[in-house]
Amino acid sequence: MDPTVSVEEPLGEQFQHRMVNPKPGELLEETYIVKDPLGSGRFGKVWLVEDKQTGKRFAAKQCACRRPSQRKEFEMEIELMNALDHPKLLQLYEAFFGKNDVTFILELVTGGELFDRIADEAFDLTETLAVKYIRQICEAVSYMHNKMILHLDLKPENILCVSPDRLDSIKIIDFGFARRYTPNTPLKIMFGTPEFVAPEVVNFDPLGKGTDMWSIGVVTYVLLSGLSPFMGDDEQETLSNVTACEVDFDDDSFEDVSEEAKDFICQLLSIRESKRPGCDQCLKHTWLSKPDSHRKSLSAAVVNLKKFVARRKWVRSINAVRAMTRLQAGLKKNDGATFSK
Ligand code: AMP
Repeated sequence: MDPTVSVEEPLGEQFQHRMVNPKPGELLEETYIVKDPLGSGRFGKVWLVEDKQTGKRFAAKQCACRRPSQRKEFEMEIELMNALDHPKLLQLYEAFFGKNDVTFILELVTGGELFDRIADEAFDLTETLAVKYIRQICEAVSYMHNKMILHLDLKPENILCVSPDRLDSIKIIDFGFARRYTPNTPLKIMFGTPEFVAPEVVNFDPLGKGTDMWSIGVVTYVLLSGLSPFMGDDEQETLSNVTACEVDFDDDSFEDVSEEAKDFICQLLSIRESKRPGCDQCLKHTWLSKPDSHRKSLSAAVVNLKKFVARRKWVRSINAVRAMTRLQAGLKKNDGATFSK
């Protein structure tokens, strides 16, 4: 475990970090009892499962995998997860390559998606709490960046609460877009989620650690206001809003948001990747280093977040149907320049 992490040890169904060597075979139902669905992602579904022998609970994620190029991508995801041993990053327990699919057996995170929890009327969202979340995200991403790994898909759906009784402790999931990064070797991709991707992704320019920092800026903006800063009427408009990089805090929802928080967001949403502060710099920013200074309830943000979460769920349900169709039809996962939602 990384000894530098400052947040308390999270609760949850944890196990010691393991180096996973994927096994061949359709082993999910042979080894586990498949229980409730937990969610759906870009390429398949996630279920709660229980080990038939030990009774231990995990999350099983199954994705279509037919072509060698897809297999290579999933092998890379496993290799990257093997390199990531941090309490704020989801851990991999084992993996199976079946004939047409891959199954990841993952640490079970029982608190649900962070933004779902916050969108609950009873939730008292304050900047003090938002700082707690963003600090944990920065600590986890700092660990990844020190290992020269970029996440490249930081967005609300990929931030889960560790357990229902610990809504202040989060975990980052989904390393399907993560990549190793070598300075001086340009890394270019064109995938991600339009509302959260940085301008360099849209422009197919070289990426860097700042690419994740941009997404943290967007997540912070949404967290404090419930509004999505670059959302357009369609995907094209969203992407052109991203490249225009115009951020404002004009909406009434920002009335109760501190100037320090706005400055933090503005620094992260700089058009130039190299200008954005890294995680360690962020952790020293005034907003993140005075966690107890803003205790006002952000009730407008909670109301907006309800709509934000509903909209994202609707988009994802359409994607999940497409993913299941792909899984059933045995069609391939995208390996080209495509944006997921
Ligand atoms: P993913 O395909 O990894 O983006 O996951 C899709 C959704 O499934 C997430 O947004 C979560 O709601 C849920 N999920 C994924 N992994 C886990 C996990 N390890 N424990 C609990 N729920 C999960």
